Amino acid sequence: MHINDAVFLEDLCPKFRFRQWRKSIHKFTGKSCIYCGKPSESIDHVIPRSQGGLSTTENCVPACLSCNGDKSDENALYWYRRQRFYDPRRAMAIRAWLEGDLRLALRLLQWANPNFRIIKNYEKDKSEYKAA
Ligand SMILES: [Zn+2]
Repeated sequence: MHINDAVFLEDLCPKFRFRQWRKSIHKFTGKSCIYCGKPSESIDHVIPRSQGGLSTTENCVPACLSCNGDKSDENALYWYRRQRFYDPRRAMAIRAWLEGDLRLALRLLQWANPNFRIIKNYEKDKSEYKAA
């Protein structure tokens, strides 16, 4: 297959690209809701589309259906502050995510939830160096 074919294929199948993108968002948090930590079943716009929020990775976070539905058309940062499960570390993570600093966002999420597993790409595997 030529490189040109691949580009053409991607242009031809925006749906496929979209699905891959959605998958990667869920993968960042290990499929857990950025707000409450429950399994993420949807993608939520931190700044809602109705307020000019874009469908970019910075503005799209994994969320459970309950949080996504409850938040509805509100700005996530304002909505989240009123929730019973509010955690300042998660709030900071959402802010970092929004600013495009996924690395910091994931660290904060890990801090908020020790069971949270950070994905490999974001952590240098030091044991690998020791073994060498
Ligand atoms: Zn949730």
